[in-house]
Amino acid sequence: MGAELATGFDCRACGKHHEILPLSFSVKAPDAAIRIPEEEQASRVVLTMDQCVIDQRDHYVRGRIAVPILDYPDEPFIWGVWAELSPKDFTRTNELWRTEGRENEPPYTGWLASEIFPYHNTSNLKLRVQTMPVGRRPHLFIEDGEHPLAREQRSGITLARVQEIAELILHAGDSV
Ligand SMILES: [Zn+2]
Repeated sequence: MGAELATGFDCRACGKHHEILPLSFSVKAPDAAIRIPEEEQASRVVLTMDQCVIDQRDHYVRGRIAVPILDYPDEPFIWGVWAELSPKDFTRTNELWRTEGRENEPPYTGWLASEIFPYHNTSNLKLRVQTMPVGRRPHLFIEDGEHPLAREQRSGITLARVQEIAELILHAGDSV
């Protein structure tokens, strides 16, 4: 779990008070890797905290979609999600993994490899993948400026929207 606000919030989904308001949500693997049956995982998927390769063919890096919070400028809201890269850019990413100044690398083109629940249809959205300084995950930018997530990334969101996102995600698995 990443950043959070200890102020908590009164949840409209369950009617209870939650002690913390999460300022980030993340997934530990690309959706394509999660879908692979348990018994095939070991032979087909290589997964670390930051990288994933499936069938030695599909290459992914973990990145961050940062969304400014207009009424909480201390830090952005973060979607910790996965981007598919071309084999060439994935190799380049590895070559530069510990290279100081790697953030000067021109952006790569990637494709969002995570469905982000509150938005629908985020899989395969085209991305600009900006390399960050050593030790930090790349920043991802949605190329389709009209997509709701792109608009929020560009214009920012309010803490009220952060709460709405939390209500959706924290109770996504609840039976109705
Ligand atoms: Zn709740």
